[in-house]
Amino acid sequence: MTHILHDAHDRDPHEKEFLQAVADVMTSVQPVLDKTPEYRHHGIARRMVEPERIITFRVPWLDDAQQVRVNRGFRVEMNNAIGPYKGGLRFHPSVNQSILKFLAFEHVLKNALTTMPLGGAAGGADFDPKGKSDAEVMRFCQSFMAELFRHIGADTDVPEGDIGVGSREIGYLFGMYRKLCNQFSGVITGKGLGWGGSLIRPEAAGFGCVYFAAQMLAARNDTLEGKTCLISGSGNVAQATARKLIEMGAKVMTFSDSSGHIYDEQGIDLDKLEFVKRLKNIRRGRISEYVDQYPDATYTPTTPEMESNPLWEHRGQFVFPCATQNEINAQDAYHLINNNVKLVCEGASMPCTSQARTIIMDKGILYGPGNAANAGGVAVSGLELTQNSIRLTWLGDEVDSRLKIIMKGIHDTCLAAADANGHPGNYFIGANIVGFIKVAEAMLDQGVI
Ligand code: NDP
Repeated sequence: MTHILHDAHDRDPHEKEFLQAVADVMTSVQPVLDKTPEYRHHGIARRMVEPERIITFRVPWLDDAQQVRVNRGFRVEMNNAIGPYKGGLRFHPSVNQSILKFLAFEHVLKNALTTMPLGGAAGGADFDPKGKSDAEVMRFCQSFMAELFRHIGADTDVPEGDIGVGSREIGYLFGMYRKLCNQFSGVITGKGLGWGGSLIRPEAAGFGCVYFAAQMLAARNDTLEGKTCLISGSGNVAQATARKLIEMGAKVMTFSDSSGHIYDEQGIDLDKLEFVKRLKNIRRGRISEYVDQYPDATYTPTTPEMESNPLWEHRGQFVFPCATQNEINAQDAYHLINNNVKLVCEGASMPCTSQARTIIMDKGILYGPGNAANAGGVAVSGLELTQNSIRLTWLGDEVDSRLKIIMKGIHDTCLAAADANGHPGNYFIGANIVGFIKVAEAMLDQGVI
């Protein structure tokens, strides 16, 4: 296995997020590679870590002062052995090829886990929607789609939202696609309810994450009822995770954004959550404004120079990181352990550094890896595509009950694979093995492509 890691490193030494994801996954599927020599003979792992295609393009747009701005757009089409490429679009200044390759690679395995016929991809741009007017965001999205439309399609590559791409951006992107192609299809998921979207899609990653945590607890005769929870982020996944936790009787105490976090010892109830949704989704404000509305809560700013995030120093039994990659480092992990945290369930993609994950798992803390725990987002995207194909809209309860069944299935198959490969209870290894085998078998059947 080390030669695959070395090759990946020699080829792209600066892609630290991608190399981290490759090392994490390939190390955990080692037991499978050891007992399946065909995979080595057919170069399965070596092919899996090389994207099938990467598209990079210029995105020029006019700001409100009529100045020309130029961003860089990407789409990484990683693997379509089991279905059309599928994965998010991220608009954030940090976006680069390494981050998108890691997200696309994670999508390959995550999408396979859902049991849906979906390949893996990721894309986006180094564009920051924060502080831009709606008109600027619209012009940017239209310019972005003016190139992307050539490469996507309902049976080719189906983007969805990720950081910085919510319902507003999906609307502008879909509108431009429809105009350019003169076609109304399921090409993007996360669409508005009146124009091809699915009920529960906006909430699916967060709801699914809580259903996964509930399954991990149920397997140990425990529940979410009455547990204190720390959540990071305050966007799509964080909001839905909070809502489902509150509905299932847990006490949510924190939210954050890239400037800092709030801590509400009384607990964040559904009314306070509604305030956060309006603040972040409509007013596009900062989480610091929570304490203006609820003065009993506290706000603590963070800066990128900080060695650890004070959010993870609060006492909470369960932890749901829902912001971004590598937001829990080794020092944060020690803070969680010192505070006796019992469960970490990842709403975000790769929110723990490899070292933090090892520290958490070595202490026997229940750990739900993002590949499995946040797969509800892409699973309901798959259900949205199904509804588009059959020209029907299912009721919210129907979508939600399918999501629950999918998350239980993911939980059970991860546990069974971990057991069968000598790592009982290790959801991280189980999730990687299940996703890897499904894609590897399809690649074997289809020859060297
Ligand atoms: P949103 O853009 O809705 O929210 C992201 C949140 O994370 C914001 O609160 C943002 O704060 C914060 N954040 C972003 N970057 C940083 C950073 N560098 N440091 C600290 N905080 C940061 O995104 P989503 O909720 O959709 O996505 C969150 C995570 O969930 C991502 O890892 C994504 O890959 C993953 N995910 C998303 C799915 C989806 O369907 N949307 C599905 C599965 C996983 P600020 O406003 O300051 O930027």
